Amino acid sequence: MSFNNLQLIEPVLKALVHEGYTTPTPIQQQAIPAILEQKDLLGCAQTGTGKTAAFAIPILQLMHQQQQQSPNGRRNIKALILTPTRELAIQIEESFNAYGKYLDLKHLVIFGGVNQFSQVNALRRGIDILVATPGRLLDLMNQGHISLRDINFFVLDEADRMLDMGFVHDVKRVIAKLPAKRQTLFFSATMPPEIQQLANVLLTNPVKVAVTPVSSTVEIIQQSIYFVDKQNKNALLKDILADADIKTVLVFARTKHGADKVAKELNRNSIRAEAIHGNKSQNARQSALHNFKTRQTRVLVATDIAARGIDIDELTHVVNYDLPNIPETYVHRIGRTGRAGASGIAISFCDHEEKAYLKDIQKVISKTIPVIEEHPYVMANNNQQSQRPAQRASQRPSFQKRPNSNGNGNGNRSGSRNGNSQNANGFRGERRRSFSNSY
Ligand code: AMP
Repeated sequence: MSFNNLQLIEPVLKALVHEGYTTPTPIQQQAIPAILEQKDLLGCAQTGTGKTAAFAIPILQLMHQQQQQSPNGRRNIKALILTPTRELAIQIEESFNAYGKYLDLKHLVIFGGVNQFSQVNALRRGIDILVATPGRLLDLMNQGHISLRDINFFVLDEADRMLDMGFVHDVKRVIAKLPAKRQTLFFSATMPPEIQQLANVLLTNPVKVAVTPVSSTVEIIQQSIYFVDKQNKNALLKDILADADIKTVLVFARTKHGADKVAKELNRNSIRAEAIHGNKSQNARQSALHNFKTRQTRVLVATDIAARGIDIDELTHVVNYDLPNIPETYVHRIGRTGRAGASGIAISFCDHEEKAYLKDIQKVISKTIPVIEEHPYVMANNNQQSQRPAQRASQRPSFQKRPNSNGNGNGNRSGSRNGNSQNANGFRGERRRSFSNSY
């Protein structure tokens, strides 16, 4: 299957060639034809499956075709994409920009935490596609700068995260202002009852597409656990980062304060790190992300919400400095790695208090995470160790090395997908996940 089989128009195909995309991902293969047929869509998919292109490409194409039919119309907002975080909003707008490179459609991204002046100016000049976070959108709607009267396409992205972040009421307020006649595309990584209800209200006879149930995504990522006392976590992290082969690391901390402390400690030890979380200004977050993507910063320390959806190609390592208490969060975190053909490695620290979390995580992923048994900060009286397959230092040249659950000594996982350029789905390694069509 190639993009040429999806009835896409020339300017879109050209943009995809420019992006280096050759093969549509499973969600793209299923969603693009359905959206082009102007059907509503319920997509059960998380970041990393190629879902942004799955909705952006057909929306651009349909809007272009409608523009050809009635040229010279005034630009008014015809597509609204609602997404929970600024980082996601920015990435989505970048995608519209990339795939719509050869089309005459104007898009804008708006989010809170920054002055509204330039956003309002751009709105006045006229735009076709608006990507927004709920708070700022409502704000500008209430001020009379935005009307949703002409919306033909509405995308609700990461609906479950909207719920987690307390945005559901804002989302409902936005929905109340949408015209009844429109095409709606609804995406969520999970489908808790409240989200299912929202989908039922919003969608008419939707085509359902599901890829990568959350617990199966982890299979292709090399995971390991270090049992370590809380007070030794910083020292252990520094030791792990002594391995110069670890070029980019996303470290997850549970709290904003914790993230700041870890970054500070690393910097004190000449390891360049920045923290990203909700208390940072928008500019500070963007600049930290930019520095990380351009490899000026080696370590980005993030809280879950700040890191959600961040798409960093070639991120090789994720470190769970703190284990999350929600197992699905673990899956989302480690799913940040293993992209762009990079071998994904997820290292987790577990202190006494976090052992219960580990148990829950292992239940959800249906897998026992290999333990690094020998390291300088091994926990005293760790009674969990006898229950797990052990990873002895004697099997590894140094304790920072990758765990090797198949015993072949080279850190590759037997039976898992190849770690280079093409996976079993033909998706160019960026998303080395298993995809399933079951809904
Ligand atoms: P997502 O966040 O799920 O929309 O996926 C994001 C990443 O996948 C971005 O880096 C995209 O550039 C990349 N991507 C999406 N579709 C494809 C494709 N068909 N081939 C290669 N990369 C893709």
